[in-house]
Amino acid sequence: MKAEIIAVGSELLLGQITNTNAKFISSRLAEVGIDVYYHTVVGDNPARLEDAVKVAQQRADLLIFSGGLGPTKDDMTKESIAKCLGAALVSDNEALRYIESYFMRSGRAMTENNKKQALVLEGSIVLPNKNGMAPGMALTKEGRQYILLPGPPHEMEPMFEQEAIPYLLGATGKKEVILSRVLKFYGIGEAELEFRVQKILEKQTNPTVAPLATPDAVTLRLTAKARSQEQAEQLIAPVEAQIRQLVGEFIYGIDEDTLPSKAAEILKRNGWTISAAESLTAGMFMAELGGESGISSTLQGGTVVYNEKMKVELLGIHPEVLSAHGIVSSECAAALAESVRKKYNSDIGVGLTGAAGPDPHDGQPAGTVWIGIAFKNEAAVTFKLLLSGSRNANRIRATRFALYYLIQYLKEKEGQN
Ligand code: ATP
Ligand code: MG
Repeated sequence: MKAEIIAVGSELLLGQITNTNAKFISSRLAEVGIDVYYHTVVGDNPARLEDAVKVAQQRADLLIFSGGLGPTKDDMTKESIAKCLGAALVSDNEALRYIESYFMRSGRAMTENNKKQALVLEGSIVLPNKNGMAPGMALTKEGRQYILLPGPPHEMEPMFEQEAIPYLLGATGKKEVILSRVLKFYGIGEAELEFRVQKILEKQTNPTVAPLATPDAVTLRLTAKARSQEQAEQLIAPVEAQIRQLVGEFIYGIDEDTLPSKAAEILKRNGWTISAAESLTAGMFMAELGGESGISSTLQGGTVVYNEKMKVELLGIHPEVLSAHGIVSSECAAALAESVRKKYNSDIGVGLTGAAGPDPHDGQPAGTVWIGIAFKNEAAVTFKLLLSGSRNANRIRATRFALYYLIQYLKEKEGQN
C-alpha cells in the first residue's frame, strides 16, 4: 500500500503552523509497515484541493487528509473530496446527536453551521471524535482508501491511533496487534540517549525502538507487532528491561505520564505532603503541581520569596546563610526547602533559587540554578544546574528539573520504606 498524506490549511502554507500532523501520521504508519510516498500541503481552496486529490489518486492507494472538517466556510475538505469522488454528503445521526449534546452540556446555543460537522461522505465509516465535534471518516472507493481527519492535533492523534490504525490494519488484512510503550526520559539529551542505547537501536526489529524529543521529555517508543496482546507484551518486556539497565536513572515515567503527574502520583501513593519556596521560578513549580487533579491532598502551599528580605522575613532564613554563601547557593536552596517544609508542616519541602539571566545574579553566572529537597527531618539534598537558555527557558527548565529530581529522590525514599 502506498500512502499520501494531504494536509489542508492555508496557515500551513503561510508558515503560521508546522505540519506536525504529517509527521505524526507518517511515523505511526511506518510503525505498522505502511509506506508513505508523498506529503502534500494545500491551502483552503477547493479548486487546488481537488487538483491535489486527482494527483494523489494517480500515485497512491491510501489518501489521508488532515484539517478542514470544522464548521466554518474555509473548512471544505469533505465537500471537495465528495465532488472528486462523485459521492454525496449525508447527515450522520450519531454525529449530530453528539454535537447537540456537546452544546447542551456547555450551555451554549448551537448555530446552524455546526450541523455541517455532522455531514459525512455517503458510504463511509464514521470515526468518532472524542475530543472535538467533527467526526473523521474512512471510505473505500475504486480500490483506494480515503481517511479524513480533523486538523487539531489533540483531536487527530487519538482518532488516528484508536480508530484509523485498527481500520487500516483490518483493510490490509493484517491480523496483528500493535502495542506501544513510551519510555519518558528527563535530564539526558536526545543525542546522549541515542548514543547510550545505540546497540539496541541498531538491532531493533520487533519491537521497533524510535527516539523522539518533545519539550517535556526525550522519549523512546517501543512498538511490537504480534498475534496477541500478550505476545506483544512479551516482545517489549526484555527490550524495555535492557534499556532500563542502560539508562534507567533518567526514566521518570511511561506512556501518558508527565513530570507533574508522576510527581503527584508518588506523593499521593505515599500520603506525603509537599510545599515549596520559590525564588527563581516565582510559583511555576507549584503551578505545575496545581494542574494535577486531586493534588489538594498533598500540596499544602508555598511561598514566593523573590527578594532577600522576604526570604528572611517570611521563611526565617538566617541572614548569615545568605551573606556567607550568597542567594544562588546550595546552602540557600537547602535552607529554603527546610524552612518551607517546617512552615507548612509538610513531609517534603522544595526550594528553588538561581540566576535566570540574562545578567549574572549575586556573583553567579546566568543559568546557575540550585534546587533543594528536604524530606522529613533529614537535611536537605541539593542539585545544581548550569543552563544556557533565555531567561524564561531557564525558569521553565529549572521547574522541570525540580520535578524530575523530586521524582527520583522520592522513588529512592519509597524504596527504603
Ligand atoms: P476545527 O473544527 O478546529 O476548525 P478542522 O478540522 O477544520 O478543525 P482546521 O480548521 O484545518 O481543522 O485546523 C484547525 C487547527 O488545527 C489549526 O488552526 C491548527 O492549529 C491545527 N492544525 C491543522 N492542521 C494541522 C497540521 N497539519 N499540523 C498541525 N496542526 C494542524
Ligand atoms: Mg477549521
